[in-house]
Amino acid sequence: MTQVYNFSSGPAVLPREVMLAAQSELVDWHGSGMSVMEMSHRGREFTQIITEAEADLRKLLAVPASHRILFLPGGAHFQFAMVPLNLAAEGDTVDYVNTGHWSKIAIKEARRYAKVNIAASGEEGHFTAIPDEADWQRSDNAAYLHYCSNETIGGVEFPYIPKSDATLVCDMSSNILSRPIDVSQFGLIYAGAQKNIGPSGLTIAIVREDLLGRARPGTPTMLDYSVHAEADSLYNTPPTFGIYMAGLVFKWLLEQGGVAGAEARNIEKAALLYETVDTSAGFYSCPIEKPFRSRMNVPFRLADESLDDAFLEGAKARGLVQLKGHRSVGGMRASIYNAMPLEGVKALCDYMRDFTRSHG
Ligand code: PMP
Repeated sequence: MTQVYNFSSGPAVLPREVMLAAQSELVDWHGSGMSVMEMSHRGREFTQIITEAEADLRKLLAVPASHRILFLPGGAHFQFAMVPLNLAAEGDTVDYVNTGHWSKIAIKEARRYAKVNIAASGEEGHFTAIPDEADWQRSDNAAYLHYCSNETIGGVEFPYIPKSDATLVCDMSSNILSRPIDVSQFGLIYAGAQKNIGPSGLTIAIVREDLLGRARPGTPTMLDYSVHAEADSLYNTPPTFGIYMAGLVFKWLLEQGGVAGAEARNIEKAALLYETVDTSAGFYSCPIEKPFRSRMNVPFRLADESLDDAFLEGAKARGLVQLKGHRSVGGMRASIYNAMPLEGVKALCDYMRDFTRSHG
């Protein structure tokens, strides 16, 4: 089999051990004679799978008893609507921090349901930094404050959890499980699975219990968090295979020292890659201000854009794939989520230096 290092932003690389485990039990899960894909979501076997997945995620993030863990269908885009529908009443004001592409989409959707106050925006600075928290213009009585902890396309990441009197809501799609977080500070955390958790089609929500049961009248049943909570994430047929894969990833992470272990590896990987960019004498550059550089998504440009195609081709020849930046920003982007091994980042850094020597 061709071995590559896959730098895709998502769906992204999954741990090799997890893929092999899934392969070995694909057609016969634990002697049941069935694939997880073929099982009833209400049967004994799948009940064990989802119960363990939830317990393992609770352990990994030290989710307090005050918060429910939900396995929801659909991507994070569903959450952009579910958040205002469930947490804001008609006419309420909600605060959003705009740090880039995904914040903007969340804001656009929220505007359909609530009065959105942009508490802070990094747009003037081309989203190269997180606006200083001291300057945020918060509403007096916002139903919640929403932010995106890691902008997957732009590559800016919050190095801290914002303080908020209003219920704190966070899109953690692209950095959940990459570092320890204090879940008790949040009313709601949500994350599409396809970066650090598992295959796409599954979204995790971690919601404080007292926020359940507040969906505004007219909210579609499937978009009401309390419906999913009451049914233990089995209101409808959930993405069972995705939940199973997420469970394998959670077990893998627990074996690797949990999120603290993941954080240590992520710091090392990101440092190597940014150092390679920063010491290239301008051959490569990354526009993001250092304190806000993402540990998960490293965007970089070649000073001479006419070399982009050659860079990508040469990378592919060395088994370094999916490095092309998002179509909206161009350049390159290396996504180095939990499942990207250190060796993959080292191989990319070696290639980048070699490419500089041959083209610089
Ligand atoms: N938020 C962030 C931070 C993302 O990176 C993405 C997808 N890349 C989304 C939201 C949207 O997720 P989905 O496509 O699963 O709806």
